[in-house]
Amino acid sequence: MINCTFCKIIAGEIPGKIAYKDDLVTAFHDINPVAPTHILVIPNKHIASTNDITQQDEALLGHMLLAVKKIAADQGIAEKGYRLIINTGPDANQVVQHLHVHIIGGHYMRHPMG
Ligand code: 5GP
Ligand code: ZN
Repeated sequence: MINCTFCKIIAGEIPGKIAYKDDLVTAFHDINPVAPTHILVIPNKHIASTNDITQQDEALLGHMLLAVKKIAADQGIAEKGYRLIINTGPDANQVVQHLHVHIIGGHYMRHPMG
């Protein structure tokens, strides 16, 4: 997708600190981390948001969560825990229009959210 920052990171056109990559997903460190660990997991194909996923993406979306599990273990946050966030649309402040799962961890987070 032209002019999509995250598609450009996947293509290597703009730099990203890659944490994990396979045929279906890429994960990289957020440029503006809100916690000691803040990684974004994105599909390699351009999907704007959860409003744009289809039945055909079912396996891809499962694969994204399995990638989250691997990344959390690699980053050493699996045991203590982490929070996953997907922002969709303006009320949730989705800034980049390429579906991404935030993995946030490395310190205690208050509950409830919001
Ligand atoms: P959103 O609000 O859309 O869920 O979050 C977008 C996230 O992407 C933000 O946390 C922001 O810091 C991150 N981000 C935006 N542009 C870039 C970039 O060029 N590189 C990296 N690594 N992260 C980015
Ligand atoms: Zn994109």
